[in-house]
Amino acid sequence: MASVLNEPIETRLFINGEFQFRDSSTKTTFDVVYPYTKEVVAQGMTPNKPRTNKIFSQSAPVQEATVEDVDDAVAAANAAFPAWRDLGTAQRGAYLHKLSKLILESNGELAKLETLSTGRPISHFFDAAMAAETFGYFATGGWSAQGTASLNTPDHLNLTVKQPYGVAALIIPWNFPLIMFAGKMAPALAAGNTVILKSSEKAPLTSLYVAKLIEKAGFPPGVINIISGHGNPAGAALSSHMKVRCISFTGSSLTGQKIQAAAAKTNLKHVLMELGGKSPAIVFEDADLEAAAAQTQFSIQFNSGQVCVANSRIYVHESVVEKFTRLFREKFEAVQLGDPLDPSTSHGPQIDVLQYNRIKEYLAIGEKDGKLTTGGDANDGYFVRPTIFEGVPEDSRLMREEVFGPVVAINTFSTEEEAIEKANDTEFGLYASVFTKDLDRAVRLAKALDAGTVGVNCTSPTNAKDGAFGGYKMSGSGREGILYSLDNFLETKTILIKTSKL
Ligand code: NAD
Repeated sequence: MASVLNEPIETRLFINGEFQFRDSSTKTTFDVVYPYTKEVVAQGMTPNKPRTNKIFSQSAPVQEATVEDVDDAVAAANAAFPAWRDLGTAQRGAYLHKLSKLILESNGELAKLETLSTGRPISHFFDAAMAAETFGYFATGGWSAQGTASLNTPDHLNLTVKQPYGVAALIIPWNFPLIMFAGKMAPALAAGNTVILKSSEKAPLTSLYVAKLIEKAGFPPGVINIISGHGNPAGAALSSHMKVRCISFTGSSLTGQKIQAAAAKTNLKHVLMELGGKSPAIVFEDADLEAAAAQTQFSIQFNSGQVCVANSRIYVHESVVEKFTRLFREKFEAVQLGDPLDPSTSHGPQIDVLQYNRIKEYLAIGEKDGKLTTGGDANDGYFVRPTIFEGVPEDSRLMREEVFGPVVAINTFSTEEEAIEKANDTEFGLYASVFTKDLDRAVRLAKALDAGTVGVNCTSPTNAKDGAFGGYKMSGSGREGILYSLDNFLETKTILIKTSKL
């Protein structure tokens, strides 16, 4: 294990362009644990507990940002803002381009760090390539910050222009940290904002690794600040900070509500929310059942079900449910559980004991309310086998709450109306899918389903690169994507110029 990483893990706070290796004011640090072996990757120092890191001998405790650290980061970002805003799109883009290249070159190390923190199989790591692509796109994407002009008001030239908010806070989850990092940071910077990114306490290491690359790319101090820490105090301090003008958040709906409330109670900062899901897939009797089964099982198995868009509810027409479930089950059970660092592993453990215990609670609910037909607790570390429940009533908590594990409920329907009603009977609305060869029906369903994305004969995580991503209802507000995210970090200003008559 000692040779897994080539370099020492960075665990300090990145504020004002330099790592500030200092104890947090509350003296707290925290551990990052490899979920497979439960070994400490980066070890917090608690009194009387010796440091015995096996993965990398020079590991240091992960620094937990305090309210004071957040204040420092905001002050640094605020001071750096005017110069960064006025630098211009081309020059800002040059920095983003450099960072894109550096991320791509670090693919191997980033893959190991993400696997060690999250337990996602290394064979499923595509994140560095995607993050590099996002920074690469926004290296020139800033040019599309455009307004309008009109002469419609007599004796006036009416202009609208787009301007950055100022200091933007970016708060990300642990399931795809690097992709979230890039998806928020690249457009925020391209638009001319300065940023503070708070990573998840469960997976801070790739964000800190990229902070080293940011130093290498030569970004001006204070433009990018990266802090580690829990929702409380660091996330809460950012959400209620009077000098933070906008927040882009991805995480659970519960945390989203807290952030929205904190923003409302302080300075009404602009808030973008990408939240949880309980995505339905509907399979009609005329569908290609083999393809539908292959795709829907991958959707809920990928990353051990820890995916916001995972289709956790599947509604199958009663006439084909037996055949569909057999095909689904064959593929679902064929996964390879094992060490996520081993390239042949396709199913890793849940990220930590909290997630694992939470899923076990839902397994118990499923067994009480419905019928477990395959899977369950693997009774091996934090592993949960790909699990199917059948016949779970629609009002069961298993059908209504986000499990965030490899657990699917397969139920039946007899009419199109019934399928739509069941699919929409949820407070979530992130992604829905429909499998049918009937084009009319596909279009009717695409229109009727309450979801930010509807897949026809495809399901999550499939997405178009230039699509708009986001949720209906409690799955969020606002949209992200290469064509949409820049606008999330821009204010619109009207400039009205009085002209003299001829
Ligand atoms: P989470 O809500 O627990 O945490 C997300 C982030 O918010 C973390 O950085 C956390 O430290 C921070 N946070 C927690 N409490 C906070 C507070 N009071 N104020 C400010 N910040 C706070 O979510 P998670 O467990 O990290 O991630 C899983 C959730 O994220 C799931 O619900 C999943 O569906 C959702 N998710 C959504 C999308 C999407 O694009 N819609 C993508 C990935 C994950």
